[in-house]
This record gives sequence, structure tokens and C-alpha cells, in this order.
Amino acid sequence: KERTLAIIKPDGLAGNYTDKIREIILDSGFSISKEMVVQLDEDTVKSFYAEHSSRSFFQNLVKYMTSGPVLVMVLEKENAVADWRGMIGPTDARNARVTHPHSIRAMCGLDSERNCVHGSDSPDSAGRETSFFFEDLSSV
Ligand code: ATP
Repeated sequence: KERTLAIIKPDGLAGNYTDKIREIILDSGFSISKEMVVQLDEDTVKSFYAEHSSRSFFQNLVKYMTSGPVLVMVLEKENAVADWRGMIGPTDARNARVTHPHSIRAMCGLDSERNCVHGSDSPDSAGRETSFFFEDLSSV
């Protein structure tokens, strides 16, 4: 089985989408092997999103991701990385509503920044990201 990292971002948690998203996850055949609610600080977000540090939206991203608690989850199933990416839909929730109306971002995201959920974009990122949040999950 494969693992991926999912985050319900501050807007998702504040908008009370957690139960609905958890239901979608379990109905899609994932098991949730770890989860924790955490208030991220600036340094943690900067380090998690280091690959985006030169982007124009980086400061806004840091502000957004520290604006309230997030729910971090490790999801497990065959093909977990690609399947979860498919379920969350495109980065910009406005596009998601047009092209992927049944996606999670279409349901609870607002725009290209406030898009409600995160998913690792590759098996390599998934290994890095799961061990970033859960030290006992060393990458395999
Ligand atoms: P994530 O990595 O969170 O799953 P993603 O892979 O779909 O999202 P990335 O391009 O990796 O998107 O961007 C990371 C995050 O930065 C996005 O989820 C979003 O919150 C924010 N972001 C991306 N593009 C923009 C933008 N143009 N303006 C504002 N925020 C953005």
C-alpha cells in the first residue's frame, strides 16, 4: 500500500468541512493511519513549502497557512498519491468548479490560494511530507 499526506487547510477546518471530507476519504477506500490538528507557525510553513519560497504568492501562502489550525492526515491505500490528487482537483478552486465539479476543492475551496486541502504531488513528496509531520514515519 502507498501513503500520502493530506492537509485540511485553515479555511476547510474553519468552514466545518472536516467530517464531510473524512467521509469522502473513507468511502473512497483510504484508511487514515495518522491524524493531528496543529496550529502551524511561520517557520514550519516556510520549511514545508520551501520549494515555493521564490514565488510571488509565498508570503500570502505563509499567512494563509498560519491563519488557523490545520488537520494533517496520513492516508493509505493502493495508489494513494495519485488518487488523492485526483480527488482534490485543480489548485484553483474556481477552475475546479468548472472542470472537476465533484472534487473536494470545488466543494470547499475559494480560489487559487484558499483551496481547502493539500495533497502530496508525488510518491517522493509523500515520503518527505509524511515524515515532516510524523517523525516515526521515516520515508521508505
Ligand atoms: P498543494 O501543494 O497545497 O497540494 P498544489 O500542488 O495544487 O497545492 P502548488 O502549486 O503546489 O499547488 O501551490 C501550493 C499552494 O500555494 C496552493 O495549494 C495554494 O494554497 C497556494 N498557491 C498556489 N498558487 C497560488 C497563486 N497563484 N496565488 C495564491 N496562492 C497560490
